[in-house]
Amino acid sequence: MHHSTVVEDISPSLRRRVEENVGETVNLCYQCGKCAAGCPLSDELDLTPNQILRMLQLDMPQFEDQILGSYSIWLCLTCETCSSRCPKNVEITKIMDFLRHEAIKENKVNPKAADILAFHHSFLRSVKMSGRLHEVSLIAGYKIKTMHLMQDVNTAPTLFFNGKLSILPHKVTNTKAIRRIFDKSDKMGDDL
Ligand code: SF4
Ligand code: SF4
Repeated sequence: MHHSTVVEDISPSLRRRVEENVGETVNLCYQCGKCAAGCPLSDELDLTPNQILRMLQLDMPQFEDQILGSYSIWLCLTCETCSSRCPKNVEITKIMDFLRHEAIKENKVNPKAADILAFHHSFLRSVKMSGRLHEVSLIAGYKIKTMHLMQDVNTAPTLFFNGKLSILPHKVTNTKAIRRIFDKSDKMGDDL
């Protein structure tokens, strides 16, 4: 006769958290690799989008730190090439965004991503304060924060080339919606 003790981890796994926040999308991936093939940063990624999906599917605790500590989630430009090419409509871009938030929350941000994290905060602050994506002030804020006044990191030019940033500011059409998003994330104890 033997007794077994079931030790339950009270916090839901990373996969569950992704599913709760992004939707039931993880399991749809069948590893065709189109997401990684189309990603403009594929050469730089330490984990490709499909690898992240596979690791989430396996739902093993040892992968959680690897995913949240990856450099990839910070290199990701939210360009949506992967999501738009995915034949199974896996919400990869939204997953990457959620993983960034989780990495911050759990203090697992890859040390190499410090500059990009500073940029991420400048970006969010710029949107939060004005509802405008004023990229020139955004980049100035980023440079001041990182003290890289004379030096561009690789990421900013990449953002330009991918059309994510433009020189002229453009107004975000639905500023109320943006306000709501930030109010909501403030309530959730986000780190803004
Ligand atoms: S494109 Fe979609 S289905 Fe194919 S590997 Fe990437 S996430 Fe999976
Ligand atoms: S959204 Fe991110 S992961 Fe997807 S193709 Fe663009 S940079 Fe790559």
